[in-house]
Amino acid sequence: MRDIKELSIKELETAFTALGQERFHARQVFSWIYKKGVMDFSAMSNLSADLRRALAKEFFIHSLFLTEKLNSADGTQKLLLKLKDVNFIEGVIIPAENRVTGCVSTQAGCKYACGFCVSGRLGFKRNLTTGEIIEEVLFLKNNSADTKLTHLVFMGTGEPLDNYDNLLKAIRIINSSDGLNIGARRITISTCGIIPGIERLAQEGIQFELSVSLHAADDKTRSLLMPVNKIYPLKELLAACRGYAAKTNRQVTFEYILIKGVNSDLQNAKRLGKLLLGLNCKVNLIVYNPAADFKAEPPGKPEILMFKDSLFKSGINVTLRKSRGLDIAAACGQLKLKYEKI
Ligand code: SF4
Repeated sequence: MRDIKELSIKELETAFTALGQERFHARQVFSWIYKKGVMDFSAMSNLSADLRRALAKEFFIHSLFLTEKLNSADGTQKLLLKLKDVNFIEGVIIPAENRVTGCVSTQAGCKYACGFCVSGRLGFKRNLTTGEIIEEVLFLKNNSADTKLTHLVFMGTGEPLDNYDNLLKAIRIINSSDGLNIGARRITISTCGIIPGIERLAQEGIQFELSVSLHAADDKTRSLLMPVNKIYPLKELLAACRGYAAKTNRQVTFEYILIKGVNSDLQNAKRLGKLLLGLNCKVNLIVYNPAADFKAEPPGKPEILMFKDSLFKSGINVTLRKSRGLDIAAACGQLKLKYEKI
């Protein structure tokens, strides 16, 4: 049996033809799954009983199970989803004034072992399939208060650009008007700095938002926080980002976690300003959210404001992002850790 969510509408039309059915049923099935959130062929009432039975023999729709759902006082919701092979992934719903953002995982576990990230400590299990990525997004959509999901960030567990083909296929279905119809400019792909993936993404001709986890302005500190820097060091990474911005005419967002005594003083702020000079970019500053086992502290408010002000004076577009869902362990991997330890 195949996961029907692996198929684009064109591929599903072809599959219907192969089954001796009319192509237009593909559009009906897409509408049930992506517009109405129906995950059971038997409930697709405008299809004949025979067709529903034939579909159920050939395909499945549903393969993820909701294991736990946590609600934060600030409205953030975290979903722990169990995969068929008993691996776990996490997805987060983040409501704000005029948007609802889904934070999506692309892999079970992660091999990059960033020092501040719980997911990295659990090791890599496997890539998610296109169908699993889409189903995760459907779970987030169907569990958000008014089933609205306006934005997506592929920033959950795993490195999205390491699962490039499955991710891109999922995004094309999510982005399509027959699918979830979420605009490309509302979809952010976040990477720890996988240069070949950034270069490939620049050639796609779709206007995604690209977000790069930077977290340091020199190789020594970045390699300490993010071992991936030893493979893709800053100079090459920044060159790839400049190439991406030039090719797509889009701004690149850099994520920078402020950690006391590591990367948050004035010297680091000036170094970062210099590094990003002339690059069409924005910097998101995030105050460190303490995670199990990583002994570090967030800087005090004066240092945070001084860092932000220094970037601003260097001509960098900078915002200070608020941490959400702290009371429900919304930082990457923290809920999953609870289950993986059992
Ligand atoms: S921050 Fe992202 S890339 Fe780094 S270990 Fe965590 S999940 Fe992997």
